Amino acid sequence: MRIVLMVSLIVASIAVRSVQAAESETGSALPQTQRVTLKWLGTAGWEIQFAQTKILIDPFLTRKQAVAGEEWKTDEEAVLNVIGGADYIFAGHSHADHIADIPFIAKRFGAKVIGSRTTINLSLSAGVDRAQLTTISGGEKLAFKDFSVEVIESQHGVLNRGGQKRQPKSAEITSPLSGPILGKHFVEGGSYLYYFTFGKLRLLDQSTGNFIEENLRGLEPDIAILAENSNYDWTEAIKILRPKTVIVHHYDDWHVPFSSGMTAAVRKRAQRLEREVKSIDRNIRIIIPEFLKSITLE
Ligand SMILES: [Zn+2]
Repeated sequence: MRIVLMVSLIVASIAVRSVQAAESETGSALPQTQRVTLKWLGTAGWEIQFAQTKILIDPFLTRKQAVAGEEWKTDEEAVLNVIGGADYIFAGHSHADHIADIPFIAKRFGAKVIGSRTTINLSLSAGVDRAQLTTISGGEKLAFKDFSVEVIESQHGVLNRGGQKRQPKSAEITSPLSGPILGKHFVEGGSYLYYFTFGKLRLLDQSTGNFIEENLRGLEPDIAILAENSNYDWTEAIKILRPKTVIVHHYDDWHVPFSSGMTAAVRKRAQRLEREVKSIDRNIRIIIPEFLKSITLE
């Protein structure tokens, strides 16, 4: 397969294991409908355009902390500066930096929301129409007009190995709230991977830096979007997944506005994961995305 990568002004060609030739956008012979365009929204947020469909994953543009006892308010202007529409919104888990802007976006654009019981209950609490909502709990295979997706149960935070770092049981919101959404309501609610198929391209999205490794067997992602997490030992997961390309995300300071830019220290977090993945398999291509810049994959 071929991958053409466009990052802002730079058009970089990348080859994947099985194929060598990568062409620039203009040299491509493939029809536009087969291209997958990804735009990083900061944190674990993505906008994916494939054929006529626009998909968001964990879109969070408000970029500020949710305060436990205070009502959550999306920064609508910040969202609309970036998001111009959405057909589907996928939620990897239910912390504020992943789902707090989802109800506003879903209502504004009539987008369908796919997420855990917690995500769905918080969406209902915020007034999203029930007909727009799909609850997942892992294991689902969902087919849509232009793409399909498999939902894979995962886990949040550090790895629990040899009893060293225990995984806290994930808290849930089990019914719609009777009052406004407060910061404290954004509990984990279970963590999920989404394994998308766009034409011939398979893309695995990881919302938070951990896996249930046995759930990865059999996956063969062309692209794995991985969440930076220095507590996680990536060796086993990378050996199982053997992605052709890794895109690093969730390495930025998610409560700092885009206008503040990104320091070299922050960028180093992504480079640390890049080094770790390279040390496991040096043939894996690594992409460290820039805020709001597009990457086109074929
Ligand atoms: Zn989280």
